Amino acid sequence: MKIIMLGAPGAGKGTQAKKIAEKYAIPHISTGDIFRANIKEGTELGKKAKAYMDKGELVPDELVCDLVVDRISQADAKNGYVLDGFPRTIPQAEALDAALEKINEKVDFAIDVDVPDDNIINRMSGRRACVSCGGTYHVEFNPTKVEGVCDACGGKLILRDDDQPETVKNRLEVYHAQTQPLIAYYTEKNILKTVDGTQDMAKVFTDIVGILEV
Ligand code: ADP
Ligand code: ADP
Ligand code: ZN
Repeated sequence: MKIIMLGAPGAGKGTQAKKIAEKYAIPHISTGDIFRANIKEGTELGKKAKAYMDKGELVPDELVCDLVVDRISQADAKNGYVLDGFPRTIPQAEALDAALEKINEKVDFAIDVDVPDDNIINRMSGRRACVSCGGTYHVEFNPTKVEGVCDACGGKLILRDDDQPETVKNRLEVYHAQTQPLIAYYTEKNILKTVDGTQDMAKVFTDIVGILEV
């Protein structure tokens, strides 16, 4: 099963992608997580990506596409995967389709987690990310057992630099201009499925499972 998660920053793509990956035993591939790991390790890619991420802009397509095509060719991805945060532009979607076409494969579902802009700023200002494992929480909607400490690994939780309200506004603009056109792209390919992302996390997941198992 090859699944793409679509939706605004903070819509809940990562939260749901993790649950899907667990339930169906497929890898969760998050380009944001890959970039953040590279930044932490101080790689060349990390240095290049950070400049864009800090401004709430997209990392250029040429730094993203090969990386994802490589990742999905690895052994653990042979039965499928859930892509979170990729594709984010039409050229990225076309690059993915071209790479899959070469091996006679295609994306099965593009799931749009739909959340209006008004809800997003709240979601982002309450999001807390683990610096060690990348786990994501929310101070109100998904709190950790001990404040500031990751339930999964005991790591320290932070508010991501790019989750500051000013940067979030820019990321939302970038989303509408560059990523939202993918909804029409996948509608045309008859694989777009929309879920109401304003519901609680468990209900959003139930709806997604309903879509995947028809
Ligand atoms: P969110 O899910 O909150 O939008 P991500 O972790 O997916 O955040 O992405 C964080 C940042 O990483 C983005 O704002 C962008 O700068 C960069 N990024 C992640 N994925 C991509 C991608 N596919 N193309 C370009 N930039 C990306
Ligand atoms: P994305 O990957 O789309 O940027 P996340 O999965 O990181 O989004 O979710 C953004 C924030 O909102 C996180 O703090 C997360 O815990 C919280 N969140 C996710 N889904 C929901 C939901 N259905 N209701 C309330 N808060 C949610
Ligand atoms: Zn952790």
